[in-house]
Amino acid sequence: MRRRSLGTVILLATLSVIGVLLTQMLWLDRAFRLQHEQVELQKQEQQQLEKQFNDRVIIALTNVTEQILSINKDPSDLFDAVKQERPNYFAVTINDTLHPYLLEALLRKEFKRRNITDDFEYGIYDCFTDSIVYGNYVVLDSSTSDTLPHTHLQKLDKDGHYFGVFFPKRSSSLWMPETVSRSTWIYPAIVSMIVFAFFGYSVWIIMGQKRLSEMKNDFIGNMTHELKTPISTIALSSEVISDPAIINEPERLAAYAAIIRSENERLRAQVERVLQLATLDQDKLALKRERIDLHERIRHVVDALKLPLEERQGYVDLHLEAAEHWVTGDPVHLTNVVFNLLDNALKYSDGPPRITIRSSDVGRMLVVAVEDHGIGIRAEDLKHVFERFYRVPTGNVHNVKGFGLGLHYVQQIVNAHGGSIEARSEPGAGSTFTFRLPINKKDRS
Ligand code: ADP
Repeated sequence: MRRRSLGTVILLATLSVIGVLLTQMLWLDRAFRLQHEQVELQKQEQQQLEKQFNDRVIIALTNVTEQILSINKDPSDLFDAVKQERPNYFAVTINDTLHPYLLEALLRKEFKRRNITDDFEYGIYDCFTDSIVYGNYVVLDSSTSDTLPHTHLQKLDKDGHYFGVFFPKRSSSLWMPETVSRSTWIYPAIVSMIVFAFFGYSVWIIMGQKRLSEMKNDFIGNMTHELKTPISTIALSSEVISDPAIINEPERLAAYAAIIRSENERLRAQVERVLQLATLDQDKLALKRERIDLHERIRHVVDALKLPLEERQGYVDLHLEAAEHWVTGDPVHLTNVVFNLLDNALKYSDGPPRITIRSSDVGRMLVVAVEDHGIGIRAEDLKHVFERFYRVPTGNVHNVKGFGLGLHYVQQIVNAHGGSIEARSEPGAGSTFTFRLPINKKDRS
């Protein structure tokens, strides 16, 4: 996919996700408001019902008081006699003696007339003894089988005689609206967050895949170029030497033969690199495990690179100081590891390559460091150099050819042998690649 179309897809997907989230938030807000309105409505209805009930009770109690006063032939003023002390507790001041049975009978009759069917409890307060002298629980609501236990009526801060009527089934506090439950918004919020996280993760994966595919394309372009050049040089040279007249020019013949040899060697090296990758791509790297003297392998590689080193007036300093230098591993792959590191040290040195290889044994590990004084690697590139197909852009500036596979291969092989590798570098000063492999003590030389 081209860079622009991928960008457009990601942009559109981001906009869609944001759109979905916004719509969800709008719906949530609407649901929230609706629920709130409903709660408000219920609250108002409840308050209205409560008010009607209270009015009926007050009228009933006023009538009861009137009747008591008329029975007792008491001319007292009824003004303000009935008071609602709490939402479910009414008190009636009556400065007269009261017969409890009469009171109960009157209450029952008046409540029935006013259609008040709630159970109630009443009590008569006597100011001389400062106590509730009589009280009873009256069941009117036959639908409730379980009668409530007697609640002791509380005394009120009042002077004189009074009687109180208490409706235990009514709430004593003002009706509170139900708070909108948390689940209304918390679950959609969690789901949205998961969707968002998943979306972010997908974009991250796509970007990673895109980078890999770009690097692969670079690799194919590079490889085609790398393979085509020696092939056409070999084709040209062989055409020249196939001319019978060349027999008379043995120097030219030798020169062309040398070109064919060296280009052939170049081709072989390139194919070898690609094959190294193919080996890694197989799920199980088939390693031949045998006892190897790594010092001997290092010397062998240095010998093999003698010619290119001399051509560039370079040298390799060997400080192979490890007393234990035997490891168990695949000789071909481990030789490739040393070769790739040394080859890179050569390739990425501007002037004459000055390379040092050190070895030491630290605990149970054999440590080998390949140090050069080449172009070095910037910190932001250094963290990627072991990735497959990764090439530092400056590699091209210095016109050094490669596939970005060497270090990836090195790391995979070292890891497969139970070891590790790390790189330190400073741009312009040089790089050091250090790998560790477990020592095979039994096989010491
Ligand atoms: P390549 O085939 O490009 O050399 P590698 O995997 O061996 O692939 O290396 C990856 C990149 O790391 C190279 O393109 C190069 O830029 C950088 N690199 C590797 N070794 C060195 C070194 N010794 N000095 C400087 N840069 C290096």
